[in-house]
Amino acid sequence: MSRREELASEILGRLRAAGFALVGICEVRPIDRPEAFDAWIKAGHHGDMAYLAEHRRERCDPGVFVPGARSIVCVADRYADGRPDQHGPRGAPRGRIARYARGRDYHEVLRERLEPLAEELRDRHPGERFRVSVDTAPIAERDHAVRAGLGRIGKHTLLIGPPGHGSWLVLGEIVTTVDLAPTPATPSDPCGSCTRCIDACPTRAIEPWRVHAERCISYLTIEHHGAPAGWFRERADDWLFGCDACIEACPHAAHTLRSQRLPVHPAYAAATRDFDLAEVLRWDLESMERLGLSPVLRRPSLEAWHRNAILALGYADAGVAVTMLRAFAERPDISDGLRALAMEQAAWLAQRPGAGSGVGSAAG
Ligand code: SF4
Ligand code: SF4
Repeated sequence: MSRREELASEILGRLRAAGFALVGICEVRPIDRPEAFDAWIKAGHHGDMAYLAEHRRERCDPGVFVPGARSIVCVADRYADGRPDQHGPRGAPRGRIARYARGRDYHEVLRERLEPLAEELRDRHPGERFRVSVDTAPIAERDHAVRAGLGRIGKHTLLIGPPGHGSWLVLGEIVTTVDLAPTPATPSDPCGSCTRCIDACPTRAIEPWRVHAERCISYLTIEHHGAPAGWFRERADDWLFGCDACIEACPHAAHTLRSQRLPVHPAYAAATRDFDLAEVLRWDLESMERLGLSPVLRRPSLEAWHRNAILALGYADAGVAVTMLRAFAERPDISDGLRALAMEQAAWLAQRPGAGSGVGSAAG
């Protein structure tokens, strides 16, 4: 066995022992189709995420991110097994949290196992670089994960792991100047003629292998800071933070005997699956602080949580939702923008076909 194979084998063994569901190594080279990334940015599909347009050279070539880099060690944690959510009784509207954010913050969970290994490797290989990234550096992490053999990219643009894993995966990397033997990729189309994720997307955000972030609920509930576009106010789904609809629809991510047998890392055990939307509308900074939300759930501001709750009420029983929205609009401590949004949403729900006469009486 050559030195590069020996070291690669040792590192992969250590990472498997640390509980990563998938591990692999790829060589450092520029991404295959930088022109597709450029066109996506040029068309504005990244929305407000200006950081995606910045550091373009690093994003397209990890050798720019870490000068002299030769290998990328790729890992994935599995955070769910595809079990469908149970929906509560009608009349008590709740807003769902995307599954990756229901347990501990994945940035911390991955980093606390990658950093000690990187530190040890730095000691053993003085002069070489080992740089850890967990969604924190301009790296095209899905492209590298595919090259390292962790999976394939579906039409929803997410990584689909080996059978049973689905796309319930969060990714991390160690970029290093050390030459490590790569693991084989399995490039093939996981989708064929399937269009389930495209059909299931509540906001029609997916074209094959391209997501329009500015239409994606994950982006609009987490990254987007401003007022929602008019069409987004008329959604009828219950996602409050993020969205799993395209993964849930994918046959590769289904809850099966095989998916149940594969371990889910315990750090992602769900602490918070959803929130009572009436409670969210009552939150203030103090009560939100008392909840002890994980760092990932603290990403949206209180104003954004209120906005998301107003919009998630689009799926709820109109009578109940209109009452909640009008009560929220009475709060003296909210912005004029939120007050206007709540009243617009209430007016839309009240005239929605099938809203019934209960709206007027419930709203008083
Ligand atoms: S996360 Fe939701 S809104 Fe975004 S592309 Fe997937 S299904 Fe569509
Ligand atoms: S739902 Fe179908 S089209 Fe979408 S990623 Fe899965 S297999 Fe591909």
